[in-house]
Amino acid sequence: MLNFKNKKLIYSVIALVILLALFAFAYVKNQASSINYETYQLLLDTNDIQSATIDGDEIILKTKNGTKYKIVKDGVDIKELIKKVPLNIAENSTFVSDLASGVILFIMIFAFILYLRKKDMQARSKMEEKRTKQQAFDIDSFMSTPIKPVVSNITFKDVAGISEVKEELTEIVDFLRNPSKYKNFGIKLPKGVLLVGPPGVGKTMIAKAVAGEANVPFFYQSGSSFVQIYVGIGAKRVRELFAYAKKYAPSIIFIDEIDAVGKARGGLRNDERESTLNQLLSEMDGFEDSSGVIIIAATNKIEVLDEALLRSGRFDRRVFVSLPDKIEREAIINIYLKDKKHKVNTKNIAEITVGFSGAALSTLVNEAAINALKRGSRVIEESDFYAVRDKVLLGKKKILSFSNEEKDIQALYQSAKALCAYWYDVSFDKVSIVSDGIKDIDKEIESRSEMLSKIKVYLAGMTATELFYQDKFSNALNDLQKAKDLANLMVEKYGMGNSIYPNKLDSSNILEEAKDDVKKFLERYKDALKTIKEKMLKDEIVTKEELKSIVNEIF
Ligand code: ADP
Repeated sequence: MLNFKNKKLIYSVIALVILLALFAFAYVKNQASSINYETYQLLLDTNDIQSATIDGDEIILKTKNGTKYKIVKDGVDIKELIKKVPLNIAENSTFVSDLASGVILFIMIFAFILYLRKKDMQARSKMEEKRTKQQAFDIDSFMSTPIKPVVSNITFKDVAGISEVKEELTEIVDFLRNPSKYKNFGIKLPKGVLLVGPPGVGKTMIAKAVAGEANVPFFYQSGSSFVQIYVGIGAKRVRELFAYAKKYAPSIIFIDEIDAVGKARGGLRNDERESTLNQLLSEMDGFEDSSGVIIIAATNKIEVLDEALLRSGRFDRRVFVSLPDKIEREAIINIYLKDKKHKVNTKNIAEITVGFSGAALSTLVNEAAINALKRGSRVIEESDFYAVRDKVLLGKKKILSFSNEEKDIQALYQSAKALCAYWYDVSFDKVSIVSDGIKDIDKEIESRSEMLSKIKVYLAGMTATELFYQDKFSNALNDLQKAKDLANLMVEKYGMGNSIYPNKLDSSNILEEAKDDVKKFLERYKDALKTIKEKMLKDEIVTKEELKSIVNEIF
């Protein structure tokens, strides 16, 4: 496709070529051939000359048949010539006529170029019009997706497990049921709740359940849908969303994948995302605590969120939703098997699905049912689950699934973290085989020793596998990174190294110091660690209370 610039160039070249051709033609046409005096005399005698024009030192003769000749003026008897033919004595007349024809030509060519340009402009404006229409259509279709509340019929009992999450949210449900009660008592509730957890663990479901329990309208919006290519649309959408939610209050706004809008600013700028985020922040600041609107947002990457979103008065309540443990998995499987005929011991299925999310379990049950049908049976057997487990695993690459040996290593790894977290007083509720419930609570002021304790917990798993297996394993990746990051932060930002000025060696000294301590500690309390590991292998989880009693028994 030619662009406009190229077209312009081509038109100019064409025009120039035409102009040159015409000039050349005119020149050739007007070119008179020289004749000698005899030929002139012959033409004169035969009365063949129609007109004569003096052009400088020459006389241009035009014959009756249009041919032009020229002869040196000095050799011609002008008087004799005048007697026979009219003599045009306007000197340079050919030049004038050439100039005139040149100007006319030029005007013609110029007009031609203008014509071509006009055509081109018309074509361009048509295209532009089409494009604008298309844009308008895109924006219209985005804007005309009506902001409509959904009436949720999901309640807490539909969401299996995650009882702590439900507990944390019951207060919000109560507030939504009766906002005036809270208003009258002057109790402030969070405006925003941030659900943090991996995909498929039921974050959307729980937000819907809060709406269902409180019987209030639910406004769903995905973060990525705000971030459009057209600047200003996302912000407008946010404004509308809040306006509607207030109109329908008490109500819930649910923003899925908030990280799409709320990624930390800086680095590569994205004007649209920033304007949407700013709008979101100002909407959250703008409405009163008692407006009856609660914003629930979900993310699996809290670490990338802009700090402004996490500040007080915004998403200051955070609820962590982790992958279901064995008991929770069994409960979820039971929910999905409820109205299906089966002969399955759900405990066994829970056993083989470590690392499956609620969403993956629902897929698993569905696939097992399909497998039963394929076998020509209406009753789902355990063998159907075994047959499809790997397929579901492959489909969801992110699912963790351990062999027995891996499970052993991971159980030891997590148990060491749990024991250290308890011992070094790092805040947590429970540690499971797949996730630690270590809380990253934002404290305004944190001491060096508190940070060092966190590093010890991050390094505990790795140290334990070194002690028990004399080897290191790749499951230490994330914790090791966290330990390094924190050590760097301590040295570079907080001056907690040996000197105030950052020194690369200081970070590694901090890490080594922490690791030495952990090693000594775990060596000393190997037995406690073994007991915790057994418990972890059996139940996949250890709570703080359980750790307390194990530790108390041993010491
Ligand atoms: P997230 O928002 O965390 O990505 P969703 O809420 O969209 O996860 O969950 C996806 C689906 O997985 C749900 O619609 C539901 O079918 C199933 N699911 C997830 N967690 C649970 C749970 N705890 N109990 C019952 N079903 C669940």
